[in-house]
Amino acid sequence: MLCSWKGEHQMTKVEDMLGVDAGDFQWTDLAACKGLPPQSPEKDWFFDGYETNKDIAKTTDQMCNACPVQRICGEYAIENRLEGCWGGIYWTPQGKPDAVRNNHKQPKDWKGLERVYGRPLM
Ligand code: SF4
Repeated sequence: MLCSWKGEHQMTKVEDMLGVDAGDFQWTDLAACKGLPPQSPEKDWFFDGYETNKDIAKTTDQMCNACPVQRICGEYAIENRLEGCWGGIYWTPQGKPDAVRNNHKQPKDWKGLERVYGRPLM
């Protein structure tokens, strides 16, 4: 399994909901973005486009907020020091939400994300 994150309990809940066996797939198989066609740099949902176009960033946020593996995705980015939008948040390599690239988010957005992640984020 790609994710060795301690929150495997959340993954178990997803597996139970879907009635599938954990050994049959990786968490990325459940990603809402799975199979998203390659985009031009301007529409790169998780990196260049997110950084430069607030409409793309908001669309990406909506997709991530509807994704069944949102928290696992974000925790995976933190654990592996990945930059970019993972789990609905643009992370720095230090595992912190990027203040500039997330500045389109409203306080209500952060409240929703904190519910998903189960802790304060800013
Ligand atoms: S949370 Fe977003 S980036 Fe992560 S797997 Fe889901 S859709 Fe993809």
